[in-house]
Amino acid sequence: MSAVTDACNLMNNYTRWPIRLVKGKGNTVWDDQGKEYLDCTSGIAVTSLGHVPPQVTERLHQQLDQLWHTSNLFEHPLQEQLAAKLAQLSGLDRVFFCNSGAEANEAAIKLARRYQQKVKGEQRYEIITFRQSFHGRTLATLTATGQDKVKDGFLPLPEGFATVPYNDLPALSAAISPHTCAVMLELVQGEGGVLPADPQWVSAVAQLCAKTGVLLIIDEIQTGVGRTGSWFAYQQYGIKPDIVSLAKGLGSGFPVGAILAGEEVGEAFSPGTHGSTFGGNPLAMAAGLATLQVIEQEQLLQRVGELNRYLISRLEQIKESHPGKVTAVRGMGLLVGIELSQSAADVVSHVREKGVLILQAGPQVVRLLPSFVTTEAELDRLTDALDEAIAAL
Ligand SMILES: *Cc1c(COP(=O)(O)O)cnc(C)c1O
Repeated sequence: MSAVTDACNLMNNYTRWPIRLVKGKGNTVWDDQGKEYLDCTSGIAVTSLGHVPPQVTERLHQQLDQLWHTSNLFEHPLQEQLAAKLAQLSGLDRVFFCNSGAEANEAAIKLARRYQQKVKGEQRYEIITFRQSFHGRTLATLTATGQDKVKDGFLPLPEGFATVPYNDLPALSAAISPHTCAVMLELVQGEGGVLPADPQWVSAVAQLCAKTGVLLIIDEIQTGVGRTGSWFAYQQYGIKPDIVSLAKGLGSGFPVGAILAGEEVGEAFSPGTHGSTFGGNPLAMAAGLATLQVIEQEQLLQRVGELNRYLISRLEQIKESHPGKVTAVRGMGLLVGIELSQSAADVVSHVREKGVLILQAGPQVVRLLPSFVTTEAELDRLTDALDEAIAAL
């Protein structure tokens, strides 16, 4: 037992860095010793507008004085407004609000099954997902996740899930049967190593789903709300999903999740079929509305594209100057991965010593998730620290 576990009542399910952050502003966070860090993690793709963004803070302050919680027994003007905005941005007309990513994917799975079984009257229950995917930590979503490490010790798992290789059309084709309900897919596998889906494969998957009556669920919990440079990553792939799940970036750090679906599929959630006590509460809706407004007004989608090009070109230079150490640079928007020929943990801790916070995605991939309000000068600080850390490998 470590000193930390002895002194602390928290369960030991996280491996934490020995840093106690107490304050944040923009892309800077401070620990309890007053040490300053450049945050290129955004709380794992959550604080996309930086820490304590003024417009969202102001909107939350106003809402704190108005109303916090009513339950879903009442009509909800703010839910209606945020749903209308999400429908306008996505082209998917029906929205359900919840509090987290796993809860959004649970809702997506339930909606898909309910639509197939009650609306279409077909005995379709199986959800097909992909190797290396990540969909959450509840029993259904960890079963959907294509990584064995999240399942260890949690048997028996719910039935009706299958996993096939990513970017592999014949494997998916072979797995689809009359029992297939939906395919659930990340367009960039975030936790699994920042692996973008092949665009040709994605269009073929969408066609295959349409042809076989299988619903296409896109998990945009990490990629959604501007992270890839469009409102949703599927818009860059030119497909129209049946169901989309969102969470991380939607509330700028205030917990909020959602699923979006077209009219026909969305109707399968009839009264009493699904719910959440806290889902769509006024504070979460205020945070969501303010977040979307800032992204729109400050043209941050365009900015994500510019920052992507700047960051990728700097990383390509680093790759060139350390032959053999960096094996790939990839990603979309401000979800960027650097694949190394050795352990990513060393680079993450070296860079942290220099006051820059970054993440890992698997043993050999460094994951960068800067906020949309990062400056080129801040990206220089990040890439200088990375250059030094990779040189030291
Ligand atoms: C983070 C994440 C989830 C789970 O979200 P939680 O809010 O942690 O439950 C699901 N899918 C993807 C793609 C994610 O990145």
